[in-house]
Amino acid sequence: MSHEWNFAERVGRVEPSATVAVGNKASELTEQGVDVVDLSVGEPDFPTPKRIRETGQQAIEAGHTGYTSSNGLLELRKAVSTDLKGKGVACEPDNVIVSPGAKQSLFETMQALVDEGDKVVLLDPAWVSYEAMAKIAGADLTRIDLGQHEFQLEPALDELTAALSNETQLLVVNSPSNPTGAVFSDAALKGVRDLAVEHDITVISDEIYDRIVYDADPTSLASLDGMAERTVTVNGFSKAYAMTGWRLGYLAAPEPLVSQVSKVHSHSVTCAANFVQRAGVEALRSVETEVAEMVAAFENRRDLVVDLLADRGKEIPRPEGAFYAMIPTEEGPNDDMEWCDRAIEDAHVAAVPGTAFNAPGYARISYAASEERLREGFSRLAEEGLI
Ligand code: PMP
Repeated sequence: MSHEWNFAERVGRVEPSATVAVGNKASELTEQGVDVVDLSVGEPDFPTPKRIRETGQQAIEAGHTGYTSSNGLLELRKAVSTDLKGKGVACEPDNVIVSPGAKQSLFETMQALVDEGDKVVLLDPAWVSYEAMAKIAGADLTRIDLGQHEFQLEPALDELTAALSNETQLLVVNSPSNPTGAVFSDAALKGVRDLAVEHDITVISDEIYDRIVYDADPTSLASLDGMAERTVTVNGFSKAYAMTGWRLGYLAAPEPLVSQVSKVHSHSVTCAANFVQRAGVEALRSVETEVAEMVAAFENRRDLVVDLLADRGKEIPRPEGAFYAMIPTEEGPNDDMEWCDRAIEDAHVAAVPGTAFNAPGYARISYAASEERLREGFSRLAEEGLI
């Protein structure tokens, strides 16, 4: 007997992730024996630091394999609050919810805050999942294009002023940014603060790349006067500690938000994995040297990518954080989807079309790859006339 599926309207509002689609194509080619330079992945190419791995293993052996309290182990929430206090953010352990990945913290926050038709503002180019999460919750999206301002927010403050009103429910800020690597200036963040206070808007500040910065010293939005009471700070262990597969992240927010989000949290994931949380405590406590080494490697690669493009007459804004760069796709086919198709099919280089981030005309590359692979990838792109 056949079955007629009757899906909820909310899943029809979103498309599968474009990043995953590129990744699938790269894996398919690799399985056929093709040597693909994969610059599409959003994860460090380093192993998780040894001390973190050992702490996780020891925690399993010690029997820490059951549930924890839903919002997370007190020890980890204390470590997170100490870390945030160091960034000037008022945060106690009770303000923290630990989740399996920062993505889950963002998803739960949107579920707790956004009703059908609520106005949510995103800064483009924006990480792919903000739009999907907001749409699943029913948001009415407004988008501000930072593409015309070298991906900086400060020159776009007038546009932000025009877009925000007392009707705005939520603004999402992500600095350092995926996909651009931009770090927003203090003046930009103060501009956000002034508008958020004026219109009493809740702001999500996704700071997952805040330890991966080069020439910049990013300010945590909630540390600004007037922001602690309205900011949901999201962060995680995936990027800085090379822990993508462990699935560990958190949010920190005022008590009213924590109480509501913790309902969504406890009825969906229950808690993050026990032994993973213990490894997270170790990450926050003692691996700053390893993080600094990874960041130094990313910085060299960032410089290499900017230089390789400059050699071909392409000037891009030098990314100040994260491990991504946006390459204009005006060479070859103008359309970024077609450009990325040709990059993977002809040059065997995987990159993500800017369209996925609401930024057509660019391709995002991740430079979380060795210098040798980056050189190889760029020379293949050049051979195919794509850069
Ligand atoms: N925010 C941004 C901006 C990201 O790039 C990512 C990962 N790609 C996440 C959140 C989610 O990270 P995770 O769930 O692995 O903690």
